[in-house]
Amino acid sequence: MKNFDIAIVGGGVLGTSISYWISNLYDLNVCVIDKESDVAKHTSGRNTGVVHTPFYLDPVKKKIFAKSAYLSNELWKKLANKTHTPWNEVGTIEIALDEKQHKTLEKYKKWGIQNGVSENNLTLLDSNEVKQKEKNVVCHSGLFCKSDISTDYTRLTQEVKKISIQNSTEFIFEKNILSFDNNDDIQINFQDNSSIKCNYLINCSGGNSLDIAKQFGLLETFSDLHFRGEYWIADSAYANLVNTNIYSVARHPEFPFLDPHWIKRANGTSEIGPNAVPVPTPETYDGFVTDIPSTISKLGDILTGGAKKLFLNPEFLSLITHEFRSSLSKDAMVERVMNFIPKLQSSYFTKKGTSGIRTPVISPDGNFVPDVIEREGHNSFHIVNYNSPGATGAPAFSALVIKKLQNKGILKNSISQKNTLWNFDSIIEQI
Ligand SMILES: Cc1cc2nc3c(=O)[nH]c(=O)nc-3n(C[C@H](O)[C@H](O)[C@H](O)COP(=O)(O)OP(=O)(O)OC[C@H]3O[C@@H](n4cnc5c(N)ncnc54)[C@H](O)[C@@H]3O)c2cc1C
Repeated sequence: MKNFDIAIVGGGVLGTSISYWISNLYDLNVCVIDKESDVAKHTSGRNTGVVHTPFYLDPVKKKIFAKSAYLSNELWKKLANKTHTPWNEVGTIEIALDEKQHKTLEKYKKWGIQNGVSENNLTLLDSNEVKQKEKNVVCHSGLFCKSDISTDYTRLTQEVKKISIQNSTEFIFEKNILSFDNNDDIQINFQDNSSIKCNYLINCSGGNSLDIAKQFGLLETFSDLHFRGEYWIADSAYANLVNTNIYSVARHPEFPFLDPHWIKRANGTSEIGPNAVPVPTPETYDGFVTDIPSTISKLGDILTGGAKKLFLNPEFLSLITHEFRSSLSKDAMVERVMNFIPKLQSSYFTKKGTSGIRTPVISPDGNFVPDVIEREGHNSFHIVNYNSPGATGAPAFSALVIKKLQNKGILKNSISQKNTLWNFDSIIEQI
């Protein structure tokens, strides 16, 4: 049976970035395990593809996400330039539809500056100024952020994987983890009856990370829900109706969904989305029930855990009904974007985009947890609720995870880096 010093569960952008840092700073025997045939096959390769500037993130409640996103922009840019990965500075206009939402834009500008964004990168525009920039956008006002980027996170994650392999990480693909025997070391048991062992495990398994943390006796009173975000692609004749990303102010910031946006993709297409439709598993990309045992178990969670309180909240139920409608009907989805791009018509969208699933975690008192959750077991570290803008922040956030493991004495302080793509000490100093 193979034995590793550290096993990372999950080859998404997070697990792959963590493997980059460990393999870069240490001579340890490290592996990344994923049930798929390559990295970034789930959320990391099924997102909106935006490198977000963290103006819309509360600097207190979402401090880790905000700081990581701010610092990671330069890190991703360096990798994208080196590897010829698309890096399109499309910019974003966050729009307000009324005076109340405009107040939120003013708050976002302040938050952005608190999060490190320079003031001249965040311009408040009145409705005419928005129109001058984007003649088909109708709104009360907007906040223009020029540094928002459109990229391809599948490519970026694959490039990080390549460097990690050069630094001697082993990627173990097509191995679905079923269980763990957790003693002094950890035996990881796969669906095909094979096993490996490791001395320390880092759980970065995205939509499954809460379930895996629970197998280590952690976060047992927390629950999660899976929301599918769907997109529609604008036919090429209409792709340039608007040339900037258009996001609208979140009407319900206590819930982790936004209205669908107008998105400029790295491949030049434009899409609308995502909505947020509840689904039973982190991989129900089509339809509503794909796996009956998981669906029953999810219903059980909802009836017994913190999620039950949410489902008794009439505001939440009404929102969810609205989201379902936009999944069942293309017209309903397009209507939501017509609130700020009235020129759109349902017939401009004939193809669905790639859907992705986010898995927000719910606390025992029935509220969505706003920031990432990190928990330590006696020989394991678990990262849960790593949601948007997690792809943006992965390089800096994963460096921070390494620093925490150093502070806990699990990793020694390293002396030198094998690879100089991203500088560990400089990121840690800035965080
Ligand atoms: C619709 C949508 C749009 C988004 N848009 C953006 C955006 O524009 N910008 C941004 O910064 N962020 C965005 N995000 C968030 C971002 O994509 C995520 O925060 C990030 O990709 C999470 O990465 P991860 O590595 O934690 O998870 P994942 O990418 O899901 O990786 C987890 C991996 O674990 C593996 N795994 C799970 N269980 C097992 C098991 N039992 N055995 C073996 N392997 C297992 C899975 O196969 C998977 O590859 C978006 C998310 C969604 C859903």
